[in-house]
Amino acid sequence: MINTIDYHHIFSEIASEFKEVDDLGAIANYIPELGKVDPTKLGVHLTTVDNQHYAFGDADEPFSIQSVAKVLSLTLALKIMGGDLWNRVGVEPSGSPFNSLVQLEYEKGIPRNPFINAGAIVICDILVTCLDDPKNDLLAFIRKISGIDSINYSSKVAESEKKCGYRNYALVNLMKDFGNIHNDVDIVLDLYFYLCSIEMTCKELTNAFMFLASGGMNPIINERVISLTRTKRINSVMLTCGFYDEAGEFAFRVGLPGKSGVGGGIVAIHPGKFCIAVWSPKLNAKGNSYKGMKVLEALTTKTKCSIF
Ligand code: GLN
Repeated sequence: MINTIDYHHIFSEIASEFKEVDDLGAIANYIPELGKVDPTKLGVHLTTVDNQHYAFGDADEPFSIQSVAKVLSLTLALKIMGGDLWNRVGVEPSGSPFNSLVQLEYEKGIPRNPFINAGAIVICDILVTCLDDPKNDLLAFIRKISGIDSINYSSKVAESEKKCGYRNYALVNLMKDFGNIHNDVDIVLDLYFYLCSIEMTCKELTNAFMFLASGGMNPIINERVISLTRTKRINSVMLTCGFYDEAGEFAFRVGLPGKSGVGGGIVAIHPGKFCIAVWSPKLNAKGNSYKGMKVLEALTTKTKCSIF
């Protein structure tokens, strides 16, 4: 099945079609450093579970992966804490923007899911509690599961976000008041901002996320990252919550579990087949890559291959 799809041909069709597509998105300049990125970038990299690679455009250029990283912090927290983690963060779609405060008050400081900002901040709190050296241990985990030692944080992006992360300060303080943040709020947010600042290329992202396409095991480096059951759980939360209040639209158009970030990156998984990463910095009104979503829709339409 894997090799019957002519990805080379499909990618060259998509590459030429998308040259003509107007990008109606806007760059995420609420984080000043992200506002400096060239908005015309477009990169795509697909890696199959049997280690075939297909790419075009700016697939080898590092960019700020932002909320895409929240899948990796969740994976590490699940490994460390196990299912008890779900007492502190839910698994329901929020139907609200990624940085919304509204539900948190009604729901007593328990975020709907680990991918909205509030949920990812709780995961950072768990990592601060459990790890000796949270920033370095988290980075070491990501380097290990991807097999790429050069992956790093961008302190420029993290510090830029810290200066204007007013909503994230509001979220962490509200949750602290409800008792769902156990550590000092500045230490927790510092880890959160650094998590979001990680820079990777599309190709590197497919390496880091490959375990989700192959039952918890990264076959490229022969490394088990997490169990089969937890792989199912992470993929299902990506499908239902990976795109905030556009998760339904992504499932409807693309039909794969995925996760976006305000740097314009999207990673999507076809369990048993491949992992794909797309980068195009301009975002739609919901904070997801405008062209990235369209490229992925074209891919699953042309290959006639989604999880549904
Ligand atoms: N760092 C960003 C923020 O907290 C992450 C948001 C995102 O990528 N959706 O606002």
